[in-house]
Amino acid sequence: ARRARATSMNEQAHLNLNVDLGDRSYPIAIGPGVIDDSALLARHIGGNKVAIVTNTTVAPLYLEKVAAPLRAAGREVVEIILPDGEEHKQWGSLMAVFDALLANKCDRKTTLVALGGGVIGDLTGFAAASYMRGVPFVQIPTTLLAQVDSSVGGKTGINHPLGKNMIGAFYQPRAVLADTSTLATLPGRELSAGLAEVIKHGAILDAAFFDWIEANIEKLMARDPAALSHAIARSCEIKAEVVRKDEREGGLRAVLNFGHTFGHAIEAGLGYGEWLHGEAVGCGMVMAADLSQRLGFIDAAAVERVRALVAAAGLPTAAPDLGEARWIELMEVDKKNEGGAIKFILLKPLGSPSITSVPHELLRATLSSCVA
Ligand code: NAD
Ligand code: MG
Repeated sequence: ARRARATSMNEQAHLNLNVDLGDRSYPIAIGPGVIDDSALLARHIGGNKVAIVTNTTVAPLYLEKVAAPLRAAGREVVEIILPDGEEHKQWGSLMAVFDALLANKCDRKTTLVALGGGVIGDLTGFAAASYMRGVPFVQIPTTLLAQVDSSVGGKTGINHPLGKNMIGAFYQPRAVLADTSTLATLPGRELSAGLAEVIKHGAILDAAFFDWIEANIEKLMARDPAALSHAIARSCEIKAEVVRKDEREGGLRAVLNFGHTFGHAIEAGLGYGEWLHGEAVGCGMVMAADLSQRLGFIDAAAVERVRALVAAAGLPTAAPDLGEARWIELMEVDKKNEGGAIKFILLKPLGSPSITSVPHELLRATLSSCVA
């Protein structure tokens, strides 16, 4: 259920969704100026202390905007500013958050606020899940990827030197406040990376939304606020519905990995950070569409639509040449595989998913036709 609401501070309408998870349900507010609505954030903060976790890039842009009204309302605000980067989504940063919380005598009523992209959201969520066995937490995602994907669904955690996201917990926020105005400062590559997950949501679960993204891709690339708000809201609705049915990844949630089997192989094969995750997923969706056609699930025109939309979103469509044996080896270690056979999320047809293992010769044909 989606409602538009005119705020007290300004007359811009926010879109409001609800993630329906029984007693762990929570609202998502989306739109330009959401973080300027101090009443909105205040409503989700119970105790009189708030700890805002952010990083050195986001802090100078948005920290004061969030902290000042809370202080003005008499809240004690603890600011925790971590170094920027995926390599800091690790144990040492988590400890730095706990150190600051303890040094400032934060108690079980203290609310943690994650202000930043998916790295800050995942780490702060895990800190909130484990500090004093669980404190309330609010997500203020400031990347498109975090607004359409990582801030919704309750997966939190950090990386281990032996694997990404290996230490974590399922822990839902009290609210998600997605301010589309913050996307104005986002680097173009990061915007495109977020669009990959938006396209993914349409491709696997909503053909009409895929049509809408095709029709509005130029507006999205130009950061048109209304187009962004709709894309974020529809993405959150689609992801929230999957999470509602499968909160702890028993099965259905795997469809959200469309494009990710190929994508993870690209990220690992080139070395993490060479391509952004969303770039690898963009290319991975083109490869998965190609494979879907080889199985007779979609026609060539549908493959071309996926390829053209990924390209229009500023994402790569030609896969790196890792060598066939290495490609297959990397895909075989993917988390989704049970008993050795690689499971692919494919389109059957565009707009709905099919989880399938695939004959080797078809996979080889996709690799040789998609590699640059
Ligand atoms: P990120 O958090 O590293 O942010 C990307 C870059 O943008 C960083 O340099 C950041 O400081 C900067 N930034 C953030 N907001 C900005 C703004 N408004 N203006 C300018 N710069 C800004 O990366 P991300 O893509 O947001 O998130 C990736 C992380 O999310 C990964 O660690 C991934 O594992 C995780 N993730 C989690 C889930 C989940 O379900 N929990 C889902 C997808 C991804
Ligand atoms: Mg992803």
